[in-house]
Amino acid sequence: MISERILVVGGNAAGMTAASRAKRLDPSLAVAILEAGPRIAYSICGLLFAIEGKVGFEDLVLFTPERLANERGIEARVHCEAIEIQPSRKRVVARNRKTGEREAHAYDKLLLATGYRPLSPGVEGTELQGVFTASRLEDGEAILSWVGAASARRAVIVGGGYIGLELAEALLTRGLEVTVVERAPSVLHTLDPDMARLVEEELERKGARILTGRIVKRIAGASARVEAVELETGGLRLPADLVFVDVGVTPRVELAEKAGVRLGASGAIAVNEQLETSVSSIYAAGNCAECVHLVSGRPMVIPLGTVAAKQGRIAGENLAGRRRPFTGALGTSVVKVLGVTAASTGLTSEAAEREGFRTVATAIEGRFQASYFDSGAPGKVKVVAERGSGRLLGAQIVGSASGAMRIDVLAAAITARMTVKDAAQLDLAYAPPAGALWNPILVAMNALAREM
Ligand SMILES: Cc1cc2nc3c(=O)[nH]c(=O)nc-3n(C[C@H](O)[C@H](O)[C@H](O)COP(=O)(O)OP(=O)(O)OC[C@H]3O[C@@H](n4cnc5c(N)ncnc54)[C@H](O)[C@@H]3O)c2cc1C
Repeated sequence: MISERILVVGGNAAGMTAASRAKRLDPSLAVAILEAGPRIAYSICGLLFAIEGKVGFEDLVLFTPERLANERGIEARVHCEAIEIQPSRKRVVARNRKTGEREAHAYDKLLLATGYRPLSPGVEGTELQGVFTASRLEDGEAILSWVGAASARRAVIVGGGYIGLELAEALLTRGLEVTVVERAPSVLHTLDPDMARLVEEELERKGARILTGRIVKRIAGASARVEAVELETGGLRLPADLVFVDVGVTPRVELAEKAGVRLGASGAIAVNEQLETSVSSIYAAGNCAECVHLVSGRPMVIPLGTVAAKQGRIAGENLAGRRRPFTGALGTSVVKVLGVTAASTGLTSEAAEREGFRTVATAIEGRFQASYFDSGAPGKVKVVAERGSGRLLGAQIVGSASGAMRIDVLAAAITARMTVKDAAQLDLAYAPPAGALWNPILVAMNALAREM
């Protein structure tokens, strides 16, 4: 017998996790997902690797609606866009994107997991053929087929975020000339400029051109096709057969807003710790919802799959009748760009100052293996703390993949609200092929302790 009807809008990281968790905890629930796109449960995070050719696009689809129904007893409707929520009638009106037909779906509890969409740079020319953004697998397929069909040789990437830089690697590997244009003084806003410089140098070493502190004036075209990117600064004109725009994201909240669901100051859906919105029986999770930053304490958008999945899990538990809190996130992230991997957690020095902290920071070079085992270049570790209290606020590592992944130790330390002195005492493992006697994290903590 069905106990309650759970309806989820959005069938990816947050929505899929929530639906699966709720159904697992209470099999008597009728759980259904409405997904506007053609697929559910796709790993958009693998998109750039499919463009590069390391994996196939279909490898990135983790569940089809048929498998989801058979294996988990969850109904998923694709091409099904929710267009209106009627909270007083507890139903959602949806439109089939293929047939145009409308249908109403009743719910006892509703989860909004509509994610985000890429921001437009707000310049002329974004509608030209050959100009792309990435938020769906179809975007990646379109980029790859354009590279072939247009015999693209020159790519300009507008925005030096991690997605743009992953695409830079994919296109360099495919033999294109790549220029990255970034309006900030450095790429990757999750790193301070001194750390981001290491990533820029790696891109430059491998043939990319990095133009920081430059603003795009317009994207120019001829016969509806992209031809060049024109910059405000210096009047530079960059010829381009392909332009990729990655200038930030905005939460998809129109559906919620129309239904009277309250938005927070960040522009995303405001939720309490149980991920309930301001409207009874409506929850929100994933990148359409706010997430408290564990260092600043401020609700914000942290557009990461890790955050979406964790919020989805908690939302699923609460949809199934539990009362679990989601306490927040640090925005811990990692990106591999050619031969370097860059990771960060918490706040950068710059972000911490903007949040009102008085900071002290240090960066050290070190090896994550004994020097006689480690043939590669040393990595760099930066730690940021609050001046006075010594509370850890953030950390960044740029180096090898295994070195950068040690960021997780620092994420745990920051979550535990450790001070620099506490973290300097962490008992970290060592054997020559796997670690260093003096783990660079401990070296960085000791160096920072001297500056406090
Ligand atoms: C190229 C790329 C690489 C990435 N790499 C990483 C990474 O390495 N690590 C990481 O942590 N994060 C990464 N991310 C970010 C991560 O993918 C997102 O944070 C995550 O997908 C957000 O999950 P979500 O469920 O909140 O939203 P989404 O994944 O965006 O899913 C929302 C779903 O809702 C559907 N939808 C929206 N509106 C409606 C509606 N009205 N009706 C029905 N359906 C609707 C959408 O079609 C979409 O399928 C990457 C993102 C991109 C684009």
